[in-house]
Amino acid sequence: MKNNLQKISRSQIELFIECPRCFWLQAKHNIKRPEGIKGGYIGSKYDPLLKAYFDKHRKENKTPEELLKHNLELFPNLNQLKSWRGSGIQFEHPEHKVIYYGKIDDILVREKKFLVPIDFKTTISKEFLIREEYKRQLEIYGYLLKKNNIEVLNIGVLYVIKIDINENFEKIEERTIYFLENLDYDKYDEILENLIKTYRSSNEPEYNPNCEFCQRDFQIRNLSY
Ligand code: SF4
Repeated sequence: MKNNLQKISRSQIELFIECPRCFWLQAKHNIKRPEGIKGGYIGSKYDPLLKAYFDKHRKENKTPEELLKHNLELFPNLNQLKSWRGSGIQFEHPEHKVIYYGKIDDILVREKKFLVPIDFKTTISKEFLIREEYKRQLEIYGYLLKKNNIEVLNIGVLYVIKIDINENFEKIEERTIYFLENLDYDKYDEILENLIKTYRSSNEPEYNPNCEFCQRDFQIRNLSY
């Protein structure tokens, strides 16, 4: 893998899908989207704990009960997993001359050989809403694995921790496994074609008229003094 190649992350691919203009501004011109478009995120506190929990089982050659009952096991190769967590699952696109990558939380296995992408989510909401973005996240991991000639099932898993407190102010933690089916990996070939055209273009893409941030920018630009 050549280190001097441009790298485009999974979250930048997601940004392109949400708004090509925001992607273009961020990836090409390093102008970041205003904070506050996304909601708060407590996952950064929980993700390392969950990784450690899974790795402990991995080192002991055990499978957490909650996975076993769904016919899932942990991906056994911890060194490979550490690389996918650290540098990401990488795919050097032969025509784009770009490395696409996605850093994963963990990977599961079914029937000893098929990989299943998984992502940890943490919520304080009563209802956990499966957003389209979560599905795309798993799809991009699966796409990158497939581009590395690895067999991936077209299902993905969200491992969700719901946190609440009871009347005694004690913390309640509930773990739920959600399956996302019919993941579509193939569509990302075309998405990345469009992404790279946008990235290499010097034309500023259209903004999303439903997004309040750009609306505000354009209103400011149109002020007449
Ligand atoms: S409309 Fe503007 S701020 Fe909103 S997502 Fe697109 S480029 Fe970003």
